Amino acid sequence: MTSESSLRADIVEVGRRMYSRGYTASNDGNISVRLGADRLLMTPKSVCKGFMTPDMMCITDLDGKKLQGDRDPSSEMLMHLEVYRQRPDVRAVVHAHPPTATGFAVAGIPLDRAVLAEVVTTLGSIPIAEYATPSTSELPDAVRKYIKAHDGMLLANHGALTAGSDLFSAYYKMETIEHFAKISLVARLLGRENLIAREELLRLQELRGTYGIQAPAPICADVPMSDDPALCQVIQSPEGGGFRLVPDSTGPVPGLDGNRRREPPGGPGDPGGPGGPGKNDEAEIRLTYRELSALIEEAVKSLR
Ligand SMILES: [Zn+2]
Repeated sequence: MTSESSLRADIVEVGRRMYSRGYTASNDGNISVRLGADRLLMTPKSVCKGFMTPDMMCITDLDGKKLQGDRDPSSEMLMHLEVYRQRPDVRAVVHAHPPTATGFAVAGIPLDRAVLAEVVTTLGSIPIAEYATPSTSELPDAVRKYIKAHDGMLLANHGALTAGSDLFSAYYKMETIEHFAKISLVARLLGRENLIAREELLRLQELRGTYGIQAPAPICADVPMSDDPALCQVIQSPEGGGFRLVPDSTGPVPGLDGNRRREPPGGPGDPGGPGGPGKNDEAEIRLTYRELSALIEEAVKSLR
């Protein structure tokens, strides 16, 4: 068991990193860790996370009653308590407002496409918990729906939340979410995202086991009769094998219903989009040798 003094020092360090990387501004964000079976060590409310000292932290029980500390616990304490209640395996929770990931949360676009192998193996999908007024009991209600099957999620019009088996694991997941959001944004600005094919996705899921990565839930397509975000992870990935180019499908998203799976243009339901016959027949596309070979191989297979 890590000592209380080193956990206090770790919270100070993680707060400093979050602030220096621009994941929080002013007094935003909060951090907590389990301190034994029935107590939590938590950042206090109304302090900048970049300038904390170890003595500032509060100790609470799992119902949120303050047991020790000169300051009051974080205003988002209820959200942290809910995560610990739902996930006995979780030992640390981090909340911040990293700008790119929060941009996706504001746009109502979940980070649920199979794009980067590292993200698939560590976090899987990153859904959006429905909007809730910060610091009220609405927020734990919104988080409850997704936390059983996800270690990281966006909070609609608010920020992001991550959980882990220790403080640095929870913090690194926050880094991964923001990094993934930046890469996704660049790919979408470039106008194209090549999704990892379904077969490869399943291989990556097996790797989770091989490398001892603790994922809270399997990918939904592999759970019979289940498409419930509370029980499994929805990840967009094209079926059929081979390497498929999937043009960007980021259009105006009505309302905040960003977790619903959308058919990308050019998919089976869109014969007029890129990839199908229609107005883009003349458009130039560039392929790597590997992509071209995979497409030719696929075409030859379908001729047989
Ligand atoms: Zn917040």
